Amino acid sequence: MSPIDRRMLEQMLSRSKGVPRGTPCPRCGYELTGLSAEGRCPECGSPVAAALRPDHLVYSSPDYVAKLHMGAFLVVLSLAILIVHFIGGTFFAFAGRIGGAGGAALFSIVGFANGILALIGWWLLSSPDPGKAGVDRGATSRRVLRVLLSVRIAILAFSLVLGFVTVSPWSMPLMLMVTGVDQIVFLAAFVTSLVYLKTLAGRMPGGAIEREVDVVLKFGIVVLVLVVAVVGLAIMGMIGGLGVIVGVCLMIPTLLMMLILFVLYIFLLDRTRQALKEVRSRM
Ligand SMILES: [Zn+2]
Repeated sequence: MSPIDRRMLEQMLSRSKGVPRGTPCPRCGYELTGLSAEGRCPECGSPVAAALRPDHLVYSSPDYVAKLHMGAFLVVLSLAILIVHFIGGTFFAFAGRIGGAGGAALFSIVGFANGILALIGWWLLSSPDPGKAGVDRGATSRRVLRVLLSVRIAILAFSLVLGFVTVSPWSMPLMLMVTGVDQIVFLAAFVTSLVYLKTLAGRMPGGAIEREVDVVLKFGIVVLVLVVAVVGLAIMGMIGGLGVIVGVCLMIPTLLMMLILFVLYIFLLDRTRQALKEVRSRM
């Protein structure tokens, strides 16, 4: 027989509580205790919500979010070019048209330029937050990612130089070694990029992207373990006979899962790009 609905009372109570004690305005330091989260700071007019979620990208520097957005756009673009490049290469290889030196050179130039495009994109996407709030979530994965990107840039430059140097007896094994190191760095950068994207997603509205990163990360680890198993078995196969059979049986599902992982990764980055665009429109 109570005159006030219980749920309505709870809502009123939670609303009256407002900003918890000891929460200063991130811009001017004014004590915001008790104010509504939807309101604005009485001193400087900045949104009260910024004090409750100071790491939220909406309250970051617009230049910083613009850099992230540009980075995400370039990464998605480079991934799209990668698909066209791969399909084109496969098609021409089957059609037997890539035999010409000109076509092969063009093919590798496009691949190289696209690699640089991806690196520029990731470099922008991993820009440091000039954040006034002093919150540095995801700093470790961001720094590790930049170190790995730097190593890849060095490897790209090195292989370019190696391509111009006249053939010496040890240029082939050196090239193979560089390629091997590059592949390990690539895989490490792939995993690190996902860990970093998760921290970035945690700073955006809604939790959808954060959950999506989790799925891609877990699936990616499964695929990675399978790839290591297949490569390991391939090496063992050179010694014993059984490894070859198991390796071949594992290879096709592994390749399929790699393809799925690649598609999921592109979708995830495109979702991130869209979310950053949305954040910018709300700034
Ligand atoms: Zn203020």
